[in-house]
Amino acid sequence: MSEAKLIDGKLIAQALRQEIAGEVQRFRQAHARAPALHVVLVGDDAASAVYVRNKEKAVVEAGMIGAVHRLPASTTAAALHQLVRELNEDPAVDGILVQLPLPAHIPVDPILESVDPAKDVDGFHPVNVGKLWSGKAALVPCTPRGCLHLLRTAEVPLEGSRALVIGRSNIVGKPMAALLLGANATVSIGHSRSRDLPARCREADVLIVAAGQRQMVEGSWIKPGATVIDVGMHRGPDGKLCGDVDLASARKVAAAITPVPGGVGPMTIAMLLDNTLKAALARTARS
Ligand code: NAD
Repeated sequence: MSEAKLIDGKLIAQALRQEIAGEVQRFRQAHARAPALHVVLVGDDAASAVYVRNKEKAVVEAGMIGAVHRLPASTTAAALHQLVRELNEDPAVDGILVQLPLPAHIPVDPILESVDPAKDVDGFHPVNVGKLWSGKAALVPCTPRGCLHLLRTAEVPLEGSRALVIGRSNIVGKPMAALLLGANATVSIGHSRSRDLPARCREADVLIVAAGQRQMVEGSWIKPGATVIDVGMHRGPDGKLCGDVDLASARKVAAAITPVPGGVGPMTIAMLLDNTLKAALARTARS
């Protein structure tokens, strides 16, 4: 039996980023300014610092303005709210992203809920969550949007298919399920309390794995010919990156699968650029 086709997220993200850069160019010509993303980074979490640097670099490469507000770990919730208010009111700011996690003394939800939904490029604000679930135009979380783009680009039939999403986080699992429902798939959500998960997986034509458990899904869990999107990201004992799916055994059964690295990861940043452009276009259309 032939091995599953690898869905090349690096290549697909690159093509999308090029397309976005072209649209940004047209935006700049039409509006005499560039779309602007402001990222707020509180504290000195090393991984967050790397993510933020990568986001800033990608934004600038796409021809947009990228600003980073680096605040000390001792920043109070009140000071952070004040900064978000200022960014909400600043007409030169199109997108606002508060990098998570925040230091433990700052409650997360009130901060996310204080971002103007029109500038909420992470798509975490309850207004955007509600719009997504009611099928209205919204800013949608970047990682699940990236997964849907991979499925569309790989021409995976979604309408009427059985899709299973493993994971029910607000960042990945739930919005992923909403997007698949919007694409007319028959959607189930598996999670840490689900019974018979391997059997449920074997029923799925499309399997999205976002459980945060290293190589949890094995080939024997997968329906022959299924498409598998692996959102997980882990560093193995050998120092190499791997996902929530055991790629070697899964490739023997699936028809198509995303590798880790080089699958979903590159799509997240590409979708952040797209959300920033979308936010800028929507704001200029309104003003
Ligand atoms: P999370 O920890 O918030 O949520 C994990 C979900 O998986 C939970 O809903 C939980 O119920 C479920 N789960 C946990 N253990 C399970 C098990 N044994 N069986 C079934 N379900 C189980 O994580 P998250 O933020 O949704 O991220 C999930 C994974 O995706 C992580 O590995 C994360 O690093 C990765 N991630 C990658 C990107 C990217 O850009 N590539 C972006 C976001 C998250």
